[in-house]
Parts: sequence; structure tokens; C-alpha cells
Amino acid sequence: MPELPEVEITRRHLEPVVRGARVGEVAVRRARALRLQPHPGDFAVRLQGRRVLALTRQGKYLLGDLGDGLTWVTHLGMSGRMSLAGREEPEAPHTAVVVSLEAGPQVRFVDPRTFGHTAVLTADELAAAGPARLGPDALDALPRSPVLVARLAGRRAPIKPLLLDQRLLAGLGNIYADEVLHRARVRPDRPAGSLNREEVAALRRAVRPVLEASLRRGGTSLADLAYLLPDGRAGGYLERLAVYGRAGEPCRRCGGAVERMVLRGRSAYFCSGCQR
Ligand SMILES: [Zn+2]
Repeated sequence: MPELPEVEITRRHLEPVVRGARVGEVAVRRARALRLQPHPGDFAVRLQGRRVLALTRQGKYLLGDLGDGLTWVTHLGMSGRMSLAGREEPEAPHTAVVVSLEAGPQVRFVDPRTFGHTAVLTADELAAAGPARLGPDALDALPRSPVLVARLAGRRAPIKPLLLDQRLLAGLGNIYADEVLHRARVRPDRPAGSLNREEVAALRRAVRPVLEASLRRGGTSLADLAYLLPDGRAGGYLERLAVYGRAGEPCRRCGGAVERMVLRGRSAYFCSGCQR
């Protein structure tokens, strides 16, 4: 959390504001946010005065193209968000970085739990950083079913942790992996290699509808409201979640009680009535 839908919504809100805008002052309030910048001093130097040519997304990363081979890379971590705010607006608690746009608002990176990070990287630095290790994007580049069958063949690991592995598929996290598995009627603890072709195809078919349904509602803001849209509104997908966070509540498909198990140290929510 935030996962692909929340990062994509953030991108869609920021993109029209930052694209073509020139960066003015850059203020770093918390140095830890720059821990993946090889030389932290480079961050402001490389960003100031640049125009953001495009803002794209890969998995859970936001990528701002600054030209000359420089990329502004941001990962929101567990609780980060980007907000757009006027200079006169007070900064939210846990504001880590403030990027002022000339003739525009400020882009503020707010991160209470400090697992997020931001950096401006050269092409060589980017090639050694997290985005270079990502598999295909779950929304924009979902592999065809035979490719997934081959990737899962022989794997004894449970399917849910594999869906969280960003090298297999980039963008899913704990919430949407549970939701996709429920839609596909596959239990989270099934050894990945035990899924037959039909089940892998069902899993693949479930990915985009789940992500797109969340996108339409602005993503999922949990009770902690760590994730908010850049304009400060909460995402509305929480009330539509089929299983995530709903242990003991009725499955929206069969009415049976949603169950919780722990897989590799993380919660997994599922319905034993309709997931096999
Ligand atoms: Zn059910």
C-alpha cells in the first residue's frame, strides 16, 4: 500500500500539472527520503530549473522524465503520498520533500512511515535501481496466459507471495493480490505450480478488472487515510473490497465468512467457499 491503482491515480492527477512545468525551489525536510540518491546533494541540483517532460508509471514507481537522461524516481513505500498544494498552505505532518513549480503549485512528498523514497537518477544510476528490476506492468503490459503458465510451472511457493514479487508482475501489493485471487477463485496458499491452465487464465483475466474498478473509485484509502489523492480526497474503493481486511464478514459472492491466514509473514484474506 499504495499499490498500482493508487500510484496511477496519483500520476493522473500530477501529470497535467507537472508536464512542461519548470521546477523552482526544492526543499528537503527529511534526508531519509533521499536515501537511494547516490549523492543526496544531487537531488535538488539536478531537479532545480528542469522541466518535467513526462510523468509515467512502472509498477509502483512514478517516473518523471527531466530530459538529458535524468529521471525523477519516486516510490511511495508503505504510506507515502504526493500532494499538490499552494505555497501558502501549511505543510502536512511528515512532509519529506517539497518541490515548487515555477508559476504553479508545490508537489509535496508526504511519508509518515518513511518507507518511501525519491531521487533524480542518471540513466546509469536508473539501470542499477529498483525500476530496472521490475517485471511487466500489471495494468499496461500484462503477460499473456501461456507466459504466466510457464513462469509459474514447477513453483512450490504459494501463489499469493509470487503475485507480490514485482519481478513476476509489477504493481500488485497485499490488497490487490487478495482481490485478484478472490475474483479468480484461487486460494492464496495454493502452490503456484499446481494451478492448471484454466486457473492461470482466470487469474490473468482477474487482474485488470480489479485494478480498473479501483481506479474508477480513486483507489483504496484505508482507515489510516495514509493514501489520499493529490487533491486531498480519499479514494473510495475500500467499501468495494471483496475480501481484503474483511475477516469474519460475508463473502460478497457466496455469503460465507471471509477468512484470514498468514503467508510468509503477511495477512491473506480469502473465502474458502469460493476459492479452491
Ligand atoms: Zn465466497
